[in-house]
Amino acid sequence: MKLNSIKKEHKGSSDVQKIICKSCTAKCDMTYEFQTGQVAGNKCPRGEVYAKRYRPDAVKIRTYQLPVKNGHMKRLAVRTDSPISEDLSGVIEAELKSVALTAPIEAGEAVLTNVGGTGVALVATRKMPARHSV
Ligand code: SF4
Repeated sequence: MKLNSIKKEHKGSSDVQKIICKSCTAKCDMTYEFQTGQVAGNKCPRGEVYAKRYRPDAVKIRTYQLPVKNGHMKRLAVRTDSPISEDLSGVIEAELKSVALTAPIEAGEAVLTNVGGTGVALVATRKMPARHSV
């Protein structure tokens, strides 16, 4: 049912959707052809499952892993403060490539606001004490 609505969206322009698989850190660049259901570019079968379930307009809370300086752990999971689409998530991911946090960080603390001009804030999912006092 949902797949049909995506097909309509692409009729007349392109019937091929570019998708980055996020099932593992390899992040394969894939293409999904709506007419045939063919997936290409995936290095393993999980990519095909990901592509067929992919909905670009799906709105949900997204999580990201960010590097942390002076923390007990090297990375911290953060989440969006509101549900967002996959497209908006792509804008945020691009912005986060050059971001590093600095401990200490409290659980629930807004570590970044208006990320990439999207109006979305990112919130720490857990406490991250500092390794050394600064
Ligand atoms: S297709 Fe397989 S290898 Fe590629 S990102 Fe997805 S899970 Fe990882």
